[in-house]
Amino acid sequence: MFSSVPQFKNAFLKKLEMMFGTSFEESTSREQFQTLGHMIREHVSSDWIKTNELYRAGAKKQVYYLSIEFLLGRLLRHNLINLGVEKVVCEGLGELGIELDQLEEIEADAGLGNGGLGRLAACFLDSLASLDLPGHGCGIRYKHGLFEQKIVDGYQVELPEQWLRHGHVWEIRKTDDAVEVPFWGEIESRMENGRLVFRHLNAETIMAVPYDLPVIGYETQTVNTLRLWNAEPSRFPANADIFKYKKDTESVSEFLYPDDTHDDGKILRLKQQYFLVASSLKAIVNSFKKKNKSLLEFHDYVSIHINDTHPAIAVPELMRILMDEEGLGWGDAWDITVQTLSYTNHTTLAEALERWPIRIFKPLLPRIFMIVEEINERFCKQVWEQYPGDWGRVESMAIIAHDEVRMAPLAIVGSHSVNGVAQLHTEILKNREMNLFYQFYPERFNNKTNGITHRRWLLKANPGLSGLITDAIGGSDWVSSPQKLEELMRFKDDSAFLEKLHDIKQANKERLAKRILDKTGIQVDTESIFDVQVKRLHAYKRQLLNVLHIMHLYNALKKDPEALLYPRTFIFGAKASPGYYFAKKVIKLINCVADKVNNDPATNGKLKVVFLENYRVSLAEDIFPAADISEQISTASKEASGTGNMKFMMNGAMTLGTLDGANVEITDLVGRENIFLFGLTAEEVLDYQHNGGYHSLEYYHHDERIRGVVDQLVNGFFPDTENHFNEIYDTLLGHNDQYFVLRDFASYAEAHQEISRSYLDRNAWLQKSLVNIAKSGYFSSDRTIMEYADQIWKVQSALKV
Ligand SMILES: *Cc1c(COP(=O)(O)O)cnc(C)c1O
Repeated sequence: MFSSVPQFKNAFLKKLEMMFGTSFEESTSREQFQTLGHMIREHVSSDWIKTNELYRAGAKKQVYYLSIEFLLGRLLRHNLINLGVEKVVCEGLGELGIELDQLEEIEADAGLGNGGLGRLAACFLDSLASLDLPGHGCGIRYKHGLFEQKIVDGYQVELPEQWLRHGHVWEIRKTDDAVEVPFWGEIESRMENGRLVFRHLNAETIMAVPYDLPVIGYETQTVNTLRLWNAEPSRFPANADIFKYKKDTESVSEFLYPDDTHDDGKILRLKQQYFLVASSLKAIVNSFKKKNKSLLEFHDYVSIHINDTHPAIAVPELMRILMDEEGLGWGDAWDITVQTLSYTNHTTLAEALERWPIRIFKPLLPRIFMIVEEINERFCKQVWEQYPGDWGRVESMAIIAHDEVRMAPLAIVGSHSVNGVAQLHTEILKNREMNLFYQFYPERFNNKTNGITHRRWLLKANPGLSGLITDAIGGSDWVSSPQKLEELMRFKDDSAFLEKLHDIKQANKERLAKRILDKTGIQVDTESIFDVQVKRLHAYKRQLLNVLHIMHLYNALKKDPEALLYPRTFIFGAKASPGYYFAKKVIKLINCVADKVNNDPATNGKLKVVFLENYRVSLAEDIFPAADISEQISTASKEASGTGNMKFMMNGAMTLGTLDGANVEITDLVGRENIFLFGLTAEEVLDYQHNGGYHSLEYYHHDERIRGVVDQLVNGFFPDTENHFNEIYDTLLGHNDQYFVLRDFASYAEAHQEISRSYLDRNAWLQKSLVNIAKSGYFSSDRTIMEYADQIWKVQSALKV
């Protein structure tokens, strides 16, 4: 139905009539969108079935990626591109007077994630399918994804997100594959035929109903599956309030927790984690059993990856299944479990490490708790035997200690592989945060530097640049082999080519400028440098450093209209966790600075500040291609990897960053002359943190630029904001500026000046931009996934014989 334009048009019109009983002329855009979505699903259904059959019958190992978040965004254009039918559809719709661009806007973002961690999971799915690897996602079908952000009076206001309001055209409900997940109750144990058996009595069960989404690979037959579990009532308990039961049950997949650094200790969150793990493992084991192989070979056919510690209960749950349901002994079950599971750590922030009070964990998951206790006892004994007398070590490493279950130790002990997400991050894990575990299990630790799917973040988001690349290097091979982007290096001294690069950036900036005008009423100068910081709002990411520096530029311009070498437009996008008070104050500050700056005729034409509300995947796709500067300014050692940095680089923006996360690898790839670095190194930050020696007040007193902007937070500089910024002021001075904002200020300001100077040399700037694009192939998630597949999961393409 997609093989030619007339055929497509014909099929589209027929399908539309059948689905909605309406004529094309009468149809709405939503009906047209739904029609196209259904056509795509039908189109892939035979490949989807074939892929599943291949996996079912085949002797090849399957990998399951368990993640509490999948930040998918929209799928329409992405699917069209991967199927290779974008052009036909675009032309066909065009002939019918429909713009694909507009139809795309109908689709709600599937925002089932907070930020980088969830987006990584989505990028990995695309790479798995595109590389023909048998890899599937397992997640939760939250009724409400990440909240919708509105800015009211400069402050963030959260509205519930409603992506399912009009249904999700890509999903298929698999009622017959539903499974039950038990909570609460008691465990009864007794001897049966010489074996201890356990029964879970009086449990409250929740029905987990899977919704499957096809994951369509790029120009291949492979269609993998993302399975999202929905929580529904199971057996209604007798004599119970059925309305309450229904509500309690459904609440398990009602909301995504709007926080990616720490959780608030709610029972519901732990319920969500067990719900995801128990339903996914049940389905995985069921599917394995259809192969009629011995369970002792389970790990030869199944690999299960736990994305951060949220699914770490997979360790005791797999033990439970293997022992209680399948009758294996502890030793065999443990070997299989460890060989099956692998774990990625995503953060070194101590406050982000998950821990559950026993008083919550034990009653909610009674059998699981028993198994965790046993794992802990055996593990502590091993540590004790290796380090006799070292109580401190046992206490630090224990899975259960101080009335808490610690999820990171559980994940490490129960997995054969533990990886960090960028070189520096992995080194910090090995040498500092998880050093004791590294000493104990050195062979388990490894690095897998994150990546992004260049198919979404370059091919789809930046058609202009993609077209230029294809023309330049003679064909679109680079889409399947992103390392080929390196061939662009040939054009480094080709000024005609560099001018084309410039024109594309300019067109992207104009498109974004138009969006900014539509959404905010702010007119930005597309000749100015677009300097962008988009990411979750967090103290360690230091949006505060950025905005304080803008205040300094404003002050400087007021004194000397020539102070800024080149006009700048600062663009922000960021959601703050609803309970994160400080982060919300920073949003308010950005908006206050924007008001002040944008309405001052004295700085007009030189400085603009824009805060784009509701930052999400679809908005991100408009922003990255239009950026000149990528702000990656976290306090060194705090950002595990970052992936926004990679998306900017791939679209030809220059990084302004600290030597943190994957910025280190970016620097190695592009060379010191093609990136703007500033600030403390991770080593220096960690040294300050351990040995002291930093006094933010000294920087306040000795740098009048700093004194100027910090005082402006509290001296009435912003009209009608009495006391609004007291906390920010206190963080910086009273609490000694934990994230070294003032310490790095001067170095940051200097780097900004260097940027302005560099931008003045247009040809040199374009060369730098080209180098960034050419070297970005390394950051394709295809590379990352091949490393996981070869080194951790040991899975191979199912199509290869
Ligand atoms: C890539 C991405 C992120 C992660 O950005 P970082 O700068 O790495 O923190 C967060 N949110 C969205 C919508 C993204 O696309």
